[in-house]
Amino acid sequence: MMRTTISSNKVRSKFVQDVQDISGQDLLSCNQCGKCSAGCPVAGTMDLLPSQVVRMAQLGMEEVLSSRTIWTCASCLTCVTRCPKGVDLPRMMEALREISLRAGVSKIDLNSLPPELLRELPQLAIVGGFRKYIK
Ligand code: SF4
Ligand code: SF4
Repeated sequence: MMRTTISSNKVRSKFVQDVQDISGQDLLSCNQCGKCSAGCPVAGTMDLLPSQVVRMAQLGMEEVLSSRTIWTCASCLTCVTRCPKGVDLPRMMEALREISLRAGVSKIDLNSLPPELLRELPQLAIVGGFRKYIK
């Protein structure tokens, strides 16, 4: 189980401010109702549920940046249509990816991709994937 210390300094940290500035979302508007997690079509592939990602971001827990969830979110907008508080979670996920990428953490090592895979993948998927996963 993940253990962390909650503090007012973390809640008011630059990390929280950056997530809010980049996403344009007020993190504290989420009341943790869980409707986003209940309706997410790819929740089964995630290590943290979408609502847990929001909670960790609210609390300034930068550990959320190492979560698989921020990379597997498909930006499908299902959670946006379900959220009673108007939180745009895909924007928040994008902000977390952006913060990771700015810190130099690419999710994919280009050199590790086999050439035969690159030949088979649709070009649009490759370009879209590069924009999402690589700094
Ligand atoms: S649906 Fe909205 S308010 Fe509810 S947990 Fe998800 S982000 Fe928070
Ligand atoms: S946008 Fe992301 S978090 Fe929201 S429902 Fe779709 S895959 Fe899940």
